[in-house]
Amino acid sequence: MNHKNLILVIVFVLLNACKTEAQKEESFKIQKTDAEWKAELTDLQYYVLRKQGTERAFSSPLDKNYSPGTYVCAACSTPLFKSEHKFNSGSGWPSFDREIEGNVAFSVDYNIGVARTEEHCATCGGHLGHVFNDGPRKTTGKRHCINGAALKFIPKK
Ligand code: FE
Repeated sequence: MNHKNLILVIVFVLLNACKTEAQKEESFKIQKTDAEWKAELTDLQYYVLRKQGTERAFSSPLDKNYSPGTYVCAACSTPLFKSEHKFNSGSGWPSFDREIEGNVAFSVDYNIGVARTEEHCATCGGHLGHVFNDGPRKTTGKRHCINGAALKFIPKK
């Protein structure tokens, strides 16, 4: 084997090692088949939550919602974010400076070629959005950029 082929083999082995690592499935309390999710979610909810899609900026009615209440998972109703942690990031997506700890889980995705911190519902695994480090400096410095389609708003009584 010449050097070029050896390098190709090494690259191939490394790529597959990464793949296995990234594709290790977390096990979620709520597990449904793809067909079940498709049947019970709207097309947009399914695209975002199950296909890691992103809704159009400024398209969610929740983007400009600042009423007191709780944002729960649109798929399984797990409480994910609180209104007191919501802020106007100007991005066009509902933004929070923190999650409800323990109810949201994180992974790394490379979907746009760079590493981003992906976040998903810890109960059903539904994709929510991404976390960035350009949030409010006075609080956490984090910006949880969340698809409104992945959330349901429960107003405070
Ligand atoms: Fe969920």
